[in-house]
Amino acid sequence: MSTPFDLTGRRALVTGSSRGIGLAIARSLLEAGAHVVVHGRDTSAVGETADALARDFGADAVSTAVFDVTSEEAVIDGIRGIEAAGPLDILVNNAGLQHREPLLEVSLENWERVIRTDLTSAFLVGRTAARAMVARGSGAIVNICSVQTDLARPTIGAYTAAKGGLRNLTKAMTAEWAGSGVRVNGVAPGYIRTELTQALVDDPAFNSWVLGRTPVGRWGEPEDIGGAVVWLSSDASRFVSGQVVFVDGGMTAVV
Ligand code: NDP
Repeated sequence: MSTPFDLTGRRALVTGSSRGIGLAIARSLLEAGAHVVVHGRDTSAVGETADALARDFGADAVSTAVFDVTSEEAVIDGIRGIEAAGPLDILVNNAGLQHREPLLEVSLENWERVIRTDLTSAFLVGRTAARAMVARGSGAIVNICSVQTDLARPTIGAYTAAKGGLRNLTKAMTAEWAGSGVRVNGVAPGYIRTELTQALVDDPAFNSWVLGRTPVGRWGEPEDIGGAVVWLSSDASRFVSGQVVFVDGGMTAVV
């Protein structure tokens, strides 16, 4: 039975899908029928992840791309390579990093590294992919945001600025591209257990803060994020654009 969530025949690039949340999003898109391009900077990590997904979903369902999302030249080459194999229908801008240091101490170099990786990358990859999507008159882009899209915490100022900017970039992309059939939305995960947050999970004080601050009473798992991404990538959300959906166990709904 066909459903509006069905992604059969669509090709999706998930940046930073060699592990963590990106990998879980890749799995969800594959389960919904999409072909997924697994991506990261490390050729062997990307290859190993793609091999594992190919064993579960079939070799034709998976391909790979290796490029740095902060390099304009590499992004243009990378998207060109993906488009050469077939149209890219879905882009998930997921690659990102965290840097924890009080704002008074943060060097310009670290500030710019975070902004480049967590915000400018979505502009670079989004712009390059959207040039082809706009020409074809269809496409879906999902920017992976964060609770820091809305809320600040000490020691992660650059990340908070980048993820807040990503919300408005999502709106700016909608303003310019939705009329050409390219919808752009965000998904904002709460505190999710991945390599990025392992140090926080292992810190008893932070761990109990997360558990107390999250109405559903647990850390999120990477697998919790894919459903919203599938929805926003599919025809089921065909009149939704410029929005950020918080997948955070209720954290941003309460004080
Ligand atoms: P991980 O560190 O586990 O994975 C990050 C992925 O991005 C890896 O595949 C990494 O591969 C890739 N990557 C990083 N930098 C680059 C780059 N410059 N070019 C290409 N690929 C890159 O992170 P998470 O899975 O935890 O996070 C994924 C996204 O979710 C991020 O945007 C993060 O901000 C967001 N998020 C995470 C939360 C959490 O609790 N974990 C909460 C809210 C949002 P490689 O290093 O090999 O290139």
